[in-house]
Amino acid sequence: MPQWFGGREAGTAPGMAVTRIVVAEDDSSIRELLVHHLERDGFHCDQAADGPSALRLVRTGADALILDLGLPVVDGFDVLRALRREGRELPILVLTARSDEIDRVVGLEIGADDYVVKPFSPREVVARVKALGRRAGLTSIQAPVVLTFERLEIDEAAREARIDGVNVGLKPREFALLLELASNAGVALSRETLLERVWGYEFDGDHRTVDVHVRRLRSKIEDGAQLAPLLHTVHGFGYKFARG
Ligand code: CA
Repeated sequence: MPQWFGGREAGTAPGMAVTRIVVAEDDSSIRELLVHHLERDGFHCDQAADGPSALRLVRTGADALILDLGLPVVDGFDVLRALRREGRELPILVLTARSDEIDRVVGLEIGADDYVVKPFSPREVVARVKALGRRAGLTSIQAPVVLTFERLEIDEAAREARIDGVNVGLKPREFALLLELASNAGVALSRETLLERVWGYEFDGDHRTVDVHVRRLRSKIEDGAQLAPLLHTVHGFGYKFARG
């Protein structure tokens, strides 16, 4: 049984990672109804009421996404496109209020795995999510990622960075920033891009926020363990993760 399928029926052992599902739906009554049913089946849910929140939650690590197409600020289509463009392969179940064929086809063409038309029964949605999970498990899409750079390990599933096997104790945002940079090793990422991907579209701070977090990462990872510089400043632009 793949670990992905972490519902109670899969016999989830205490301490075993529970499947984390982002439920993105701006209608709070529908969202809460879905969350109620999913959590009763042993899934852990994070809730998003608009597109930027959905993106941010998925980027900080999720096993599946339930995505309403009619979301405010950034709609479901754009959320889907953005996630697939980033190469994220998590299963996505689309919710749509419009039953016309175009919505369905477009939704699937841009990378949804399945869809449900409103009104739906929560049981049906839970069943579809489980089916997607089983399929994902079979193809090992959700294999946990551990990036290794000599003595440094960046463990996406555990959300921790280790040096010589010891957790360096990063805060959640520091970890997300490190993961974003290391996942794009060798690629210079602008401060704008980092703010958008790590903090989310709605973040109201300025670019110095990125600088402050990079400084903290350097002191926790490079200085403390005397590692060669990994986080390189790209002057007038942003940062790049690279060895040596
Ligand atoms: Ca909606």
